[in-house]
Amino acid sequence: MGAVELYGCGVFPLYSRINHSCVPNVHNAYNPGIQRLTVYSIRDIGAGEQITTSYISSAYRTREQRREETENWGFVCSCLACTDTLIEPLRKRMFQLDQRLAAYDSPLRGLMSLDTSPLARMLAPDMPASVDEALKDADQLVELLKKQGLEGMELCKTYRECSKYSLELGSIPKALDYARKELDIERYCIGTETAHLPKDMEGAEYWIRTP
Ligand SMILES: [Zn+2]
Repeated sequence: MGAVELYGCGVFPLYSRINHSCVPNVHNAYNPGIQRLTVYSIRDIGAGEQITTSYISSAYRTREQRREETENWGFVCSCLACTDTLIEPLRKRMFQLDQRLAAYDSPLRGLMSLDTSPLARMLAPDMPASVDEALKDADQLVELLKKQGLEGMELCKTYRECSKYSLELGSIPKALDYARKELDIERYCIGTETAHLPKDMEGAEYWIRTP
């Protein structure tokens, strides 16, 4: 939201009837450009299938972390990700990869690399050792998200990470390819009425056009 925009809050009676799933089939977002809350499907929804959205802060959460969050809403989730034991190792790996990339992207990384003492090495967070390794982590995250049908904004943001690392590695065609994938997902998650995004120097289109 731009600096001159006003923050506010609203009640959306229709949207608030949508239940939660840790494997949602829609993405919702407030669009300040049209001043509406939008809900778009992020994958095919079968006839009679319930529409579900995510109430939790990120798809990169383990079952235990998700349980703590949904307890605040007063329910225990029984979606596929919360009941199928084969999915939890994938979610744990996603959490780990997300943490590794967050540490790598942290502005503190440069400072941490200056301290080579054994204690500093022991306390250093787990993170990729190079941009090449960071791209491999981000690519793995993309695959894990797609494998579970989590093709919403987390996937969009991870494509941006891939694009950014590719650019750092000097591969402009690869960076553009990832950026176009980011744009595709952004369009089906938040629609095409997004003139406000480039104005705020945000969004995939702005990223693609930035020299
Ligand atoms: Zn769940």
